[in-house]
Amino acid sequence: MLKVAWSKKYCHPLPENHRFPMIKYELLPQQLLHEGTIEEDSLFEPRDAFDSEIICVHTEEYWRRLRGLDLTASEIRKTGFPLSKELVDREINIAGGTIQCVDFALKYGMAMNIAGGTHHAFSDRGEGFCLLNDQAIASMYLIENNLVDRVLVLDLDVHQGNGSAEIFHDNDQVFTFSMHGEKNYPMHKEQSDLDIGLADGCADELYLSTLQYNLSKVVESFKPEFVFYQSGVDILSTDKLGRLDVTIEGCKERDRMVLQYFKSRELPLVACMGGGYSQEIKLIIESHANTFRLAQEIYF
Ligand SMILES: [Zn+2]
Repeated sequence: MLKVAWSKKYCHPLPENHRFPMIKYELLPQQLLHEGTIEEDSLFEPRDAFDSEIICVHTEEYWRRLRGLDLTASEIRKTGFPLSKELVDREINIAGGTIQCVDFALKYGMAMNIAGGTHHAFSDRGEGFCLLNDQAIASMYLIENNLVDRVLVLDLDVHQGNGSAEIFHDNDQVFTFSMHGEKNYPMHKEQSDLDIGLADGCADELYLSTLQYNLSKVVESFKPEFVFYQSGVDILSTDKLGRLDVTIEGCKERDRMVLQYFKSRELPLVACMGGGYSQEIKLIIESHANTFRLAQEIYF
């Protein structure tokens, strides 16, 4: 069964007109239930990540100050959020959701989090709407518990997974592969194990062929035993922060390529939503919903 992490905490409201569309976390599960892609018992309310799990990735000092809402004004500005206890609790819960997805993926082949992919969170700071790096925390959960030896973080959000790259820079057990807009945020890129920077205006054909080539290359050389997929839909031509020219069909083909690739190799996978900032909320929901529809089609 497809297990999907979701909690009301994911939908904590932000000030109106905030660039980060929190509403999608409320609308997406409604849409998936309404159309029958998932049933009520697919959804599970995640536990919170433990302190011990968080500090495998984040520095104790950052974690202490974040939990105590004790960041400087400049640190808060860089997160893009007005810092609040609810937002910190939200990210602790999302990280817990991604960890629990790991256990479900080991059992059922794949699992998904209706949030997460908070890849701009560094070991010692938050950035770009990300406070805690959920996929990094869940990667360390796998390694610390000796569940696997090699983890691939496949990040296809249009923005580079700079936080994940920094966190795992010196870790040979986690391979970070980020394919992103070269001219997009973050202007200063960190070094992932593999970075593919795409030019502005990159469209379906080039996008998909570049992905296919590099995916095989990475998997054949690194031989991962577990995969995290950051399936951001801000690659769409309609995205306000995107700069690429991928269609909604192209984005769906991307997800199909990734899920089929790992399913055929029997590599367990956890997908987290990542970014999506199209003007029309229905396009955001539709493109994220496609990832869940394909998961059902391909795995279950
Ligand atoms: Zn993004």
